[in-house]
Amino acid sequence: MTKEAQRILIVEDDKSLRTSLTHSLRAEGYHPIEAASVAFGRLQVQESRPDLILLDLGLPDADGMTLLRELRAAGDATPIIVLTARDDEASKVKALDLGADDYVSKPFGLAELFARVRSAFRHRVQVRGSAAVVQVGDVQVDLAQRRATKNAVEVHLSRKEFDLLAELVIRQGQPVAHADLLRAVWGDEN
Ligand code: CA
Repeated sequence: MTKEAQRILIVEDDKSLRTSLTHSLRAEGYHPIEAASVAFGRLQVQESRPDLILLDLGLPDADGMTLLRELRAAGDATPIIVLTARDDEASKVKALDLGADDYVSKPFGLAELFARVRSAFRHRVQVRGSAAVVQVGDVQVDLAQRRATKNAVEVHLSRKEFDLLAELVIRQGQPVAHADLLRAVWGDEN
């Protein structure tokens, strides 16, 4: 059985970086797709249905955050890794709050980027609008709506509590390392 290569959309206006990412991703067995602006990125999301998006923030026509916000508002849960030259904490926090799965700070090494890509794929859940509901015993977790119910009664959770629960139900049945949980829920600062 041959597995179709996972499509990775690279939204990056720096041509040399985009080209080198394309070559490297192809060498790793992925199917890279290029876009040099938010407008082309948007088009490629619709036409190519990427499995993951590498998203630069400083793009010529708009801020990459615009595309991130649009996709998440439309219920699109494609994993997104933000490539940022903005090394300030506020931008990273904003990107994560808007629904980015991860970020890498430029300049980054390819080994690090590939590790982030593999991690994002591991965490991927097939979220398709309202179908993003995971049932574990009598607990139901709606990942898209960020709601949890137990025996149909809503459980009120803080943002972090929900993130922690979501991370565990996504990987139900698998052991989850403490460090992975910290990174997934609290990010890199810990
Ligand atoms: Ca840029």
